[in-house]
Amino acid sequence: MNSTTLRDPRPEDPRALSRLPDMREESVVQVRGLVKRYGDKTAVDGLDLDVRAGTVTAVLGPNGAGKTTTIETCEGYRRPDGGTVRVLGLDPVADAAALRPRIGVMLQSGGVYSGARAGEMLRHTAKLHAHPLDVDALIERLGLGSCGRTTYRRLSGGQQQRLALAMAVVGRPELVFLDEPTAGLDPQARRATWDLVRELRADGVTTVLTTHFMQEAEELADDVAIVDAGRIAVQGSPEELCRGGAENTLRFTGRPGLDLGSLLKALPDGTAAAETLPGTYRITGDVDPQLLATVTSWCAQNGVMPDGISVERHTLEDVFLELTGKELRP
Ligand code: ATP
Repeated sequence: MNSTTLRDPRPEDPRALSRLPDMREESVVQVRGLVKRYGDKTAVDGLDLDVRAGTVTAVLGPNGAGKTTTIETCEGYRRPDGGTVRVLGLDPVADAAALRPRIGVMLQSGGVYSGARAGEMLRHTAKLHAHPLDVDALIERLGLGSCGRTTYRRLSGGQQQRLALAMAVVGRPELVFLDEPTAGLDPQARRATWDLVRELRADGVTTVLTTHFMQEAEELADDVAIVDAGRIAVQGSPEELCRGGAENTLRFTGRPGLDLGSLLKALPDGTAAAETLPGTYRITGDVDPQLLATVTSWCAQNGVMPDGISVERHTLEDVFLELTGKELRP
């Protein structure tokens, strides 16, 4: 895989250039009170989701939370049992004919005819669109150069996955849905996929992806929606979620047995302090520059040299664990 550009070699694609400025803040996916049942099982239970134009939204959640069902409903493959779904202002089921050419879809299961050759499939798909990406560049970019004449069923799992991704984006859609795009890929292919998503974003394309990799969400997402038990537990930028979700931690070492009661009097309400091991201290709460200054000043007044002072910011992983009670596992 190399860094070949995907941009169309033709002089300029006015669609790509004009899309970006005026659509950034529009909501291109709007889900309200979505309910989806499979028999007795309620897979999605009153879910609300907004996706802003030109952004990457990562949908995270434990296994069985309802992510795929939600995405497939937005793609028009499943009919809601309740609530409303609008994609690019259209009803994904009733307006499917108008919507399909404008969106790219990468299904978890591939959704590709297994007897067709990889290169032909991609070229054929590109021809169905007015402003496709450069096919050769896309093939090279995703490391599919050696697979052009290979039928889909003979490709490895990772190659099938990369081909499905290529098929989803080759038509230069306005909006692309990627269901676990990097599951099972090696690190190099995963990076290439991330670069591709970033490049699509720079071109004004909106991406909605589900993932089991927290790092993927941290690397790519403007917005993260955490789904739990068929509902959105929280949605916001990674920074907002980390700021609002959990406390941060300040650690330092000093002489054992410091009077933490007197330290706590100097700190804001809601702050906790503990000596976790003799001489090792942990302060938890809203750790901001002011709190750091108060701690170091208290140390100075008490003749304590705080060694190894460090601040641990809460990560998306912490927020996810707090909200769902589960770890996100590939
Ligand atoms: P995962 O992370 O494991 O892919 P998910 O968050 O995408 O999970 P869904 O695949 O949407 O979750 O499934 C939500 C719930 O609905 C699960 O309990 C699943 O077993 C159930 N489910 C999904 N598809 C069907 C189906 N076709 N028939 C019956 N139950 C289904």
